[in-house]
This record gives sequence, C-alpha cells and structure tokens, in this order.
Amino acid sequence: TTAPVNVTVTGAAGQIGYALLFRIASGQLLGPDTPVRLRLLEIPQAVKAAEGTAMELDDCAFPLLSGIDITDDATAAFDGANVALLVGARPRSKGMERGDLLEANGGIFAPQGRAINAGAADDIRVLVVGNPANTNALIAQAAAPDVPAARFTAMTRLDHNRAVGQLAKKLSVPVTEITKLTIWGNHSATQYPDLYHAEVNGKVAAEQVDEAWLRDTFIPTVAKRGAAIIEARGASSAASAANAAIDHVHDWVNGTPAGDWTSAAIPSDGSYGVPEGLISSFPVVSRGGAWEIVQGLEIDEFSRSRIDASVAELNEEREAVKGLGLL
Ligand code: NDP
Repeated sequence: TTAPVNVTVTGAAGQIGYALLFRIASGQLLGPDTPVRLRLLEIPQAVKAAEGTAMELDDCAFPLLSGIDITDDATAAFDGANVALLVGARPRSKGMERGDLLEANGGIFAPQGRAINAGAADDIRVLVVGNPANTNALIAQAAAPDVPAARFTAMTRLDHNRAVGQLAKKLSVPVTEITKLTIWGNHSATQYPDLYHAEVNGKVAAEQVDEAWLRDTFIPTVAKRGAAIIEARGASSAASAANAAIDHVHDWVNGTPAGDWTSAAIPSDGSYGVPEGLISSFPVVSRGGAWEIVQGLEIDEFSRSRIDASVAELNEEREAVKGLGLL
C-alpha cells in the first residue's frame, strides 16, 4: 500500500471548500490508487463548520480517505503537506481599496508561506485559488525562500475551462475538439483568452469565428463569467472553481495530454516578455511533475496589447505589495 498524500485545504468550510473536499477524498485529485489525508485549515470561528464537513466526509466512507485533521494553526496545517490548495482569502468588501485588500491578504498568505517553508514536504505543490490569486501566490512564495519558486502557482484553469465551454457552444462542437487554448496574464477582468493559437479539430479557432464575436463577445463573456454566475445563482461560482482546482493539480501531478496544453499562472522566466518572477498565466504543459511554458508561439499585435495590459496590472499589484513590505 502507498503512503497517503497529505493535502492541505485552507478556507475548508467555505463554498469552494465544500465542493472540493469530497472530490479530493473520492480520488479525483490524485487518482484512484492514491490514498489522501486531508488537512483542513480554517479561521477559529469557522472551525466548527469545517468539523461539520468532516462529519459528512466520514459519512461517505471514501476508501481512499485515510484521515482528516482540522486546525486553525497554519504550522500544523502545512506540516508534511504534499499538496496545498489555498482557497481561503479576504474578499473585497464594499469601499475597500486595492491596497487594503492586498494588505489583508498579506496577513493571510505571508504566514501561510512561512508555515509551508518551515514544514511542508519536499515535493510540496501549492495552488492559490483565493483572490487576488496571482498576487497572493507571490506573497506566499516570497515568504517561503527555501521552497523552489515554481512550486507556487495560481489558478486560471477556471477561466480556461470557461473559454473552452464558450467556444464549443458557439461552434456547436464537443469540448473535446478544442485544444491549445490559452489564458494569459492575471486572473482578473484583464485576463486574455487567446483563440489565435487555439484549435478546433486542428484548425485555428480564431478563423472559425468572426473577429467581432471574438473581441466583443467571447473575451468579455469569459472575463465576466464570475459576475454572470453571481447574478444568476445568487451566489458565486463554487463547484466550477473546485473543478478547475482539481484539474490544475491533477494535470500538474499526472501530466498534460500529448498534443495539447492548458493554462496556469506560474512564475515567469521572462518568456513572452512577461517580467521574470511575476506569477502570470501562460500556455503550459506538465512533464515529469513540473509545469513548462510552451515556447515559440507567435504573438500578433492584438494579442500583444492584451497580454501587456494584463501583465501591467500584475506588475502594479507586485509594486503595491512591495510597498507594503510583503516582498
Ligand atoms: P469561497 O469558497 O466561495 O471562495 C474562496 C476564495 O476563492 C475567494 O477568495 C474567492 O475570490 C476565490 N475564488 C477564486 N476563483 C473563484 C471563482 N471562480 N468563483 C468563486 N470564488 C473564486 O468563499 P467563502 O467565503 O464561502 O469561503 C471562504 C472561507 O475561507 C471561509 O470559510 C473563511 O472562514 C475561510 N478563510 C480561511 C482562512 C484561513 O484558512 N486562514 C483565511 C481567510 C478565510 P472572490 O472573493 O474574489 O470571489
């Protein structure tokens, strides 16, 4: 029997946590042969709710779930962690300035980064879901100097999956016919979903749709999908966000399919003119358990300006957290 993999989930009692934990415990994160031990981190006032979710997990009698620990102490939560899903974050409240938001999240992600640095397993992989995800990941990474920077990533897989879904619907094709889609930049309204390299049945996607739809409908629909879900459901997307987190970690660990790529926000090595160190979304493949940026794509003028705009926003966020002493 294999030793269980320790999976730490923060904000475990929240909406995304509720949609995520059962899927991890059922084997969808790491596969049907890998037992998992869940570590749930919550703030003190939400520990009781996390205990309730743990009761339900017990009641599923998942064969792969070897145990559940619940804590409000980051050091305990990340001790021996192999995978960390950082979901809990400080949401933007009414009238909150970006500086206040970044500072509040600095108070969450810097201590979590320190706890990861101190106690996580050597193979730790971190996915930040809580917003502003890219910059929260940067804050955690800066607080964990002994962990390779590439182990800190942020989620743009939901944006990626949303873009695949929208394109498939537009062209009335199964999602399985769409490959090589890319989300570039920040997980925010400035993100750039790229159809110029995406393919539908091997043909360039941008050539299958008219340019006005691509620019004026597709891009804003993908970027504003979160708000549209809130408007329709009366609550923010949770199951689709959890699904994307599962996809991200699953592919990171198990690899991406040959002939395709996906999107993830990973530390830039300077590729495509994205300043080194920014945690920005790229076209990526996973090989041997590590993300690699797909190289050599030609970037046209339109794509260049969209990528630059989103990267400029990431740069501003980095400068703001530097100003707060978090980097
Ligand atoms: P959710 O579970 O709905 O969301 C959690 C985070 O995920 C938010 O920052 C949210 O950002 C982000 N997110 C990223 N992508 C998406 C998406 N596509 N759709 C929706 N959310 C997305 O929030 P809840 O308030 O239900 O739960 C948060 C939990 O975190 C609470 O239980 C709280 O106690 C806990 N928490 C734990 C901390 C810790 O463990 N130390 C610290 C802070 C909070 P956005 O706000 O922009 O939607």
